[in-house]
Amino acid sequence: MPLTSLILEGFKSFADKTVIDFTKGITGIVGPNGSGKSNITEAIRWVMGEGSAKSLRGRNMKDVIFAGSQFRKPSNRAEVTMVFDNRHRELDFSADQVSITRRILKSGDNEYLINQQPVRLRDVRALFLDSGISQNSLAIISQGRVDQILNSQARERRGIFEEAAGVLHFKQQKQQAQGQ
Ligand code: ATP
Ligand code: MG
Repeated sequence: MPLTSLILEGFKSFADKTVIDFTKGITGIVGPNGSGKSNITEAIRWVMGEGSAKSLRGRNMKDVIFAGSQFRKPSNRAEVTMVFDNRHRELDFSADQVSITRRILKSGDNEYLINQQPVRLRDVRALFLDSGISQNSLAIISQGRVDQILNSQARERRGIFEEAAGVLHFKQQKQQAQGQ
């Protein structure tokens, strides 16, 4: 499922609207220390529903909003959009292009949109669940996560593989049905 572009505005160090286009093949992002490479992977996890401010290296979720610099005033919101090419319907959504947006305001109000329509977080999660990518999946491996996977207990490790294989969705549906 090709990721076409990532659009950041007011997210961490990306004060200005920044569009990163992913062309066919492998994209490498290079830059000096502190230039924002990790912020890009965090933006991807955030738009997919990351709920832990700590795992985004912040104390509060509002810390993702550009905090200002010597020359620029702080932003009043952070917004990230991820755009997928869905011509092959790899996402269960009937549109050739699917964009997922998350926005947080200084007030702490948080919203999600799929193709510009407001949705719930669970709709965003459901969209990704079968695809093998999610904010915790092996599609994104952050610094330190390799050790965490290697040192995890068997049950936790099994969960990681189930998600990567795309079967977690059915397991969650089964658990929901049994709970009703
Ligand atoms: P390294 O090569 O050391 O891993 P990196 O390219 O991954 O570096 P990041 O960790 O993504 O760099 O970027 C860190 C920078 O982002 C720091 O300069 C930090 O001040 C800035 N930053 C983080 N959050 C915010 C924020 N809310 N507002 C403004 N700048 C921020
Ligand atoms: Mg980094």
